[in-house]
Amino acid sequence: MKRVKIFVSGIVQGVGFRPYVYRLAKKYNICGFVKNTIDGVIIEAQGHDTSIEAFSSLIKEKPPALAKIKLFTVQPVSLKDEKVFRIEKSNGSKQYMIEIPPDFAICPECRKEILDEKDRRYHYPFTNCVNCGPRFTVIKRLPYDRKNTTMNEFKMCPECKEEYFDPESRRFHAQTNCCEKCGPQMFLVNGAGKVIAEKYSAIEYAGKLLQQGSIVAVKGIGGFHLACNAFSLHSVRKLRERKNREEKPFALMVRSIETAKKYCKVTQEEEKYLTSSSAPIVLVEKIVNIDAFDVIAPDNKYLGIMLPYSGIHVLLFEAGLLEMLVMTSGNISDQPICFDNESAFRKLNNIADFFLMHDREIFSGCDDSVMRVLPDKSPLIIRRSRGFSPESMKIPFFAKKTIFACGGDMKNTFSFMKEHLLYTGHHMGDLDEPSTIDAYVRSVKKYANILKLEPEIVAYDAHPDYLSSGLATSDEFFKNAVRIPVFHHHAHICSCMVENGIVDEKVIGLAFDGTGYGQDGSLWGSEFLLCDYRTFQRLAHLRYVKLPGGEKAIKEIWRIAFSYLFDAFENDAFSISKKILKKIDDGKIEILKTMIEKNLNSPYSCGLGRFFDAVSCLCGLKMNVNYEGQAAIQLESAMKQNASSSGYDYEIKNEAGILIIDHREIISSIVNDIINGTETGEISFKFHRTVVNFVIQVCKILREKTGVSKVVLSGGCFQNIFLSLHIKNELEKNGFVVYAHKTLPPNDACISAGQCAVANFLI
Ligand code: ZN
Ligand code: ZN
Ligand code: FE
Repeated sequence: MKRVKIFVSGIVQGVGFRPYVYRLAKKYNICGFVKNTIDGVIIEAQGHDTSIEAFSSLIKEKPPALAKIKLFTVQPVSLKDEKVFRIEKSNGSKQYMIEIPPDFAICPECRKEILDEKDRRYHYPFTNCVNCGPRFTVIKRLPYDRKNTTMNEFKMCPECKEEYFDPESRRFHAQTNCCEKCGPQMFLVNGAGKVIAEKYSAIEYAGKLLQQGSIVAVKGIGGFHLACNAFSLHSVRKLRERKNREEKPFALMVRSIETAKKYCKVTQEEEKYLTSSSAPIVLVEKIVNIDAFDVIAPDNKYLGIMLPYSGIHVLLFEAGLLEMLVMTSGNISDQPICFDNESAFRKLNNIADFFLMHDREIFSGCDDSVMRVLPDKSPLIIRRSRGFSPESMKIPFFAKKTIFACGGDMKNTFSFMKEHLLYTGHHMGDLDEPSTIDAYVRSVKKYANILKLEPEIVAYDAHPDYLSSGLATSDEFFKNAVRIPVFHHHAHICSCMVENGIVDEKVIGLAFDGTGYGQDGSLWGSEFLLCDYRTFQRLAHLRYVKLPGGEKAIKEIWRIAFSYLFDAFENDAFSISKKILKKIDDGKIEILKTMIEKNLNSPYSCGLGRFFDAVSCLCGLKMNVNYEGQAAIQLESAMKQNASSSGYDYEIKNEAGILIIDHREIISSIVNDIINGTETGEISFKFHRTVVNFVIQVCKILREKTGVSKVVLSGGCFQNIFLSLHIKNELEKNGFVVYAHKTLPPNDACISAGQCAVANFLI
């Protein structure tokens, strides 16, 4: 006989961990208890020596599917006079771990039940269990109990109750447990607002409508999708027109992993993510082209695909005998995703023909997550949202105060930091629309409320014109908190440091993106920083060029292209642009030249992203872009790898102690290649190669100068697979230790995490 105390950390609530422990204890005749504490789960177990051994090793080695154990310790304690094993209630705010579990995709068992004619949950779309189902989107308060979720409105029927209290059931303590008799229901509404079908018939009907070419707004877990049959060119075009979204790729939901493999190259690793409980959209390479794909993701060799992740989706595919659906966020252009029935019907009425809705309230809207997998198998998260957020992250230091960081204006997320945890919220989008800002303010308050946080520090981007900075310095949030501005690229690097558990030491940070406000008031974005959490020093960057028209140039990238030409060729730029930028009239170029010469609305920029825009435009791929990063994505997509060609020449100059990478020779060589008819794929490859070359060379010089050999990578440019992979590999080959993002996106969605870290060291 012995008694042990087991401590397990890293378990979020709502993954069935305590019920699992309870079942095991029963099986092995063990008494004691399991309870959640602020630090983790504590189990005391008393029984025969062999039973205790088996019990603890099963918990450690085979925990429930969704439980990710971060730390596991066992220590002996003295025996107690006990007979039973109990799950101790989490009482009061101090007792439970402060953690909001993310939503989980439907598990294979629940999926089987809803497709099994003999099962009592046949065709019931809200079927879930302790291993799957909504969490974050339905939670109103913590602790995670049914009464604190939007499922509170539905009273469990006797059969569901029985499962809930049965330790042998997969639904033991499943807070969102329900069935056809007692749970939420689907209904289908036409454009006039009339209910035309209910329950499973609603899904069945919607499936048929989709198959016949209608656009249906489908309410799922985190909000509405706009869906249409991906094989109907007509429907896809209609959706694009109605959504007024010219070229930004649409995501696809495919019936099964087998369907995905018919059209795309899906690696083992990609399959693992697609079928995981987070069920994100994964960008995979297409192997077959159908006409509709050119409208779904124009000029892109990747398709964003996901699998059905709720019972609603599973049944929709079954009912309509569908293979592939376009599933794009149900919103008006760049506004937040619609997640309540009334506003979805109002806002999406001009886009959708029908609405497949349900009566379960979504408390927090949440978009699908998006990711890529690098050839070395590491994940690259592009949008961290449903399925991942808002799971907390353990940080490598102890936060002295509770901090809120409001993030940046693009691809916004916000973060909270408290004690040893960082909570980064779900994807908010670009803060350039009143409705997005509204949603943002409401979400910040919601999180603070659910997590019971009262920040004493508010961190924000140093950019004076960012709306987020304006909000942060107003009275909108946390009135009495101290305000701390943080520079954009410093925040980028520190977010990646936090994520990689770097305690506090000097690193070389490579922050490569489009634009971020720099210390000299210019637009930075090719930064080689020597930094720790507290300070940073700029050691190298690309040569500045002017952005004629400022913000406008970011969309009309021919302006950037001409500016690079002008920088490289000066007065010859005009005649060269006539040959290369044929699509742009002379008059416009003339105006641009005057703007640059007279310094009219032409801020200095050195963003690597802008350099990509210029090259993509010079190659004739894009004159204007419809969404951030489009030109760079097309340049990467066009690349034809060729081992025999090396990069272009460039120069590195030392100007007052800062290394300047001079790109004028790169531009003139590219112009030569274009004039000589070199294929765009080849130019793209040589250009990518060149970037890797100068990055490695600069890092070597900086290591020599500073003695630092740890390199941290962040910024939107690292969404480019070639850059990410080759910069990492070649730095490692040269003896550097490299840290890249794994759970946070490298784009501006990581900024808030970095702002928290910096602020913590500045107070
Ligand atoms: Zn399940
Ligand atoms: Zn029921
Ligand atoms: Fe950035």
